[in-house]
Order: sequence, then structure tokens, then C-alpha cells
Amino acid sequence: MEKILNYIDGEYREPQSGKWLDNYEPASGEVYSKIADSDASDVAAAYEAAKNAFPEWSNTPIEKRSRILMKIADLIEENLYRLAEAESKDNGKPLSLATTIDIPRASANFRFFANAITQFSSEAHESVGLQTMNFTLRQPLGVVGCISPWNLPLYLFTWKVAPAIAAGNCVVAKPSEVTPLTAFLLGEILTEAGLPKGVLNIVHGTGPSAGQAIVEHADIKAISFTGGTKTGEHIARTAAPMFKKLSLELGGKNPNLIFGDCDYEKALNVSVRSSFANQGQICLCGSRMYIEASIYDQFKNDFVEKVKALQVGHPSEADTNIGAVVSKPHMEKVQSYIKLAKKEGATLLYGGEAVTIEGYENGYYLQPTILEVDDNTCRIQQEEVFGPLVTLMKFSSEEEALALANGVKYGLSATLWTQNLDRTMRLSKQLEAGIVWVNTWLNRDLRTPFGGMKQSGVGREGGFEALRFFTEPKNVCIQFGDRL
Ligand code: NDP
Repeated sequence: MEKILNYIDGEYREPQSGKWLDNYEPASGEVYSKIADSDASDVAAAYEAAKNAFPEWSNTPIEKRSRILMKIADLIEENLYRLAEAESKDNGKPLSLATTIDIPRASANFRFFANAITQFSSEAHESVGLQTMNFTLRQPLGVVGCISPWNLPLYLFTWKVAPAIAAGNCVVAKPSEVTPLTAFLLGEILTEAGLPKGVLNIVHGTGPSAGQAIVEHADIKAISFTGGTKTGEHIARTAAPMFKKLSLELGGKNPNLIFGDCDYEKALNVSVRSSFANQGQICLCGSRMYIEASIYDQFKNDFVEKVKALQVGHPSEADTNIGAVVSKPHMEKVQSYIKLAKKEGATLLYGGEAVTIEGYENGYYLQPTILEVDDNTCRIQQEEVFGPLVTLMKFSSEEEALALANGVKYGLSATLWTQNLDRTMRLSKQLEAGIVWVNTWLNRDLRTPFGGMKQSGVGREGGFEALRFFTEPKNVCIQFGDRL
């Protein structure tokens, strides 16, 4: 059985404990590989390798760093199908999605930060009266930790490690133990691209063991984390006594506001995607739909019909829209929320059942599920489910829509469907979300800031924000002339 090894100091290594975890294929429910069950000793080895690599890497000219990142991007592209197949097998997502979104974006992350680092500038201020010149150095932090989740495995892993190494840091990174395969394969690419050994070290294993050891390591200067809000809170508490720099990208419960004056067909079609893409397992999915009363009944009926047409199937089939959810415990969690919602008074409009796929009877397949609610305070409206499940609720005025949208503890993204420019501007300012999409969804320009408000996170990734996070600004003040 294939073994998923750590990648430390430029080579694949077994975990020091000699322990392994089972890796399940969501589409079949079968164990298909063994994952290194790493602990603090492996993290310590990864840290040593990173620490030793740091002096040379941080002093490597940015043009050279940039060329290596470009080479990594090229090699990811060359390995597109192999990586996409691995991602789909490991995660359960449709192969078509892995081929068109996940892996191309992983390559784009390296390409983007290879360019961005060459444009990253700092400030200089001359104070004429004081006869001083201030300039800001942007220095890499040293060894940093990157921890990523299972929903977009290589996409989010590279979204962190690319800016970290572009800025001259060395990294100890941990992908989710649920989806480690593509980060494991990345090791070969890093070596082939000529990334010096120790610059990027990949440690596999569980959150409480390997992940916790990264956060607890006294000399790892910063943690860039994407995952659930509860884990983020735990990481913040652990890191606080060490005053570590933190970037936390956390959960979401995103509103999708549909006004009567919207482009109806576009709002309908994109809302199907924003509800169920990647089995609803994207932090940016619009899991709460609010629809204006004037179009509510018609929109609800049309939405249900469209969702009924979605094909649940094996991830490798070309006509599959909805693959397998990521794991058995996650499937059970989604099912328990459906049960809870019905108990709380929600009406099931469609779905709610597990699906059996011939030949893959133990796979984790769920129907896309639509629930109608009339109480925004119930748990299904307030808590993140992170699966193929969306709720529909009616509103009668812009003020009501805004209050409903903002009435949760999360604030990651919001989507707005309207043709009214004044409303667009008003709501864009008032919605409590780090990202507002108007008449579109999931369009991402990598130069823009990405992150959440409230309990959806602290800090921003993307563009120069990421490079700022991974560098320490140091002001230097030089006096010139004859002033005492
Ligand atoms: P988790 O918080 O469970 O895990 C995220 C990562 O943290 C995994 O690698 C996990 O390891 C690790 N981890 C778990 N416990 C610890 C710990 N004590 N110390 C250090 N690391 C730890 O999230 P999920 O993987 O379940 O991902 C889903 C969540 O991620 C959702 O809430 C979703 O909204 C959020 N998310 C947010 C995004 C954003 O940009 N805001 C984007 C994508 C997802 P392991 O898996 O091995 O246990």
C-alpha cells in the first residue's frame, strides 16, 4: 500500500514514531494508502532543516527565488492530470473540478507570487525639517508554519507556502491528514524545480499531534492557518503566550441575497453553483439564500428543479456534478444537521438522503439538500455545516435582508444579486463580510485581499497582503546634514 511520507530537508522520510494513519478514498470508502502519523519529533526535524536553509534562502536574490517558483508552477502544470486524479481520489471531488480549478490554481499561486515578489516595494519618507530619511525594510520572518484544510487541498496549501517562500522564509507545513496526497506529490516537484533543501518541509499527521507541535514550537515565528473557527480559536490561545504572528482564515456561513430586480437566469444558475460546488465544501459557498418576496415562489420552484437535475456520482465520471463528501464522519455531521433542521421546523424541499452508487456502495454520497426556513436564529442558519446543504428564506425589504445577512457570528463572504447601483453601493458597505460579490460568485483576482471579518478570521491573504504578513517591517531612520 502506498505510503505518504514526510518531505523534510529535501527528502522523503518516514515518521520517527513509526506510526501510520489510514487514508480513505471517499468515493469507495476504502483505505488506499497510509499516512505518516508525525509528532513533535518530526516537526523538530523539519524546523532544524528550515532553520539551516534560512540564511542562504533569505539572501538569495529575488529574481532567483522567483525563477524557482515559476519552475514549480510549470511543473504543476505539466503534472496537471496526475495531480488532479490524485486530488479527486483523495478528496472525493469531481475530477472535472480538480482539473479545471484546484490544480490550475495551485500552479497560479506559485506563478502569481513569483511575480508579486519582484514588485513588492517598501516606503521611504524624507523629513526635510529633521534632516532624516526613513525607509522600511521588509525582512522575512525566519521559519514559519502553514496549516491547511481538506476542502481545496493543494489549492490552499500552495496559497500559503508560495508567498511564504517567495518572501524569503523557510516553512514547516502541514496539510490536512484527510487529504495529504497532493502535498506529498508536490515534494518531487520541489526537488525537480531546484528548490534548495529545507526551504519547504512538509509534515503529515493529525492536527492535535503534528499541527499542534508546529503551533507550539517556540521558534516558529508565525502561523498561517486555514480551517474551522474552533481550531482557529485554539491556535490563537496556544500561540498567544509566544506572541506569534497569526493569519487565521476560518469558517463561513455566507449569505446569498437575491433581489427582485436581479438578472434572474444568471442569479438562478450561479446560485446552484454557489450552493453545491465541491459538494458545498467551499468556505465561500452561499449556504444561506435570502430571496425577495416578490420573486420568492417562482425562484424557489426553479431552484429546486435545477438542483434536481444535478448528477450525484463517482468523481471520475464526466457527467458528475456532485462527488463524494470528504469522509464518513463529515457525512454523518451533514446528515445530523438535516435531521436537526427538520426538528427545528425547517421544511425539506429536496434531498436529505444518502445516495448509493453501484460498485461504490461504501462511498460517502449525499443528495444536494434544500431546506426552507423562516427563523434566522435556528441552528441551521447560525452554524457552519460545510456540506451539500442550502437554506432558503424570504425577505420583504432591503433593511430586513441586511439584518438577516449580518445576523450570524461569521463574516467571510456575501453575494448580492441586484441591478440597482445605489443598493449595490449601500449594501457593499454595510454587509459584514471580507468579500462581497455582486452579480457573480467566486471570481478571484489574486491581487485582491482575501479573508473574513468577525469569527471568520483575522488578517488577509492575497496579493501584497500575504507578502506583508510573511515579512517584518523594520523602519530605519538616518539623519544627514548638520542638524544635532
Ligand atoms: P480544521 O480546523 O479541522 O483543520 C484545519 C487544519 O488544521 C488541518 O490541517 C487540521 O489537521 C489542523 N488542525 C486541527 N487541529 C489542530 C491543532 N490543534 N493545532 C494545529 N492544527 C490543527 O478544519 P477542516 O480541515 O475541517 O476544514 C474545514 C474548515 O475550514 C471549515 O470551517 C471551512 O470554513 C474552513 N475553511 C476556511 C477557509 C477560509 O479561507 N476562510 C477556506 C477553506 C476552509 P487534520 O485535518 O489533520 O486534523
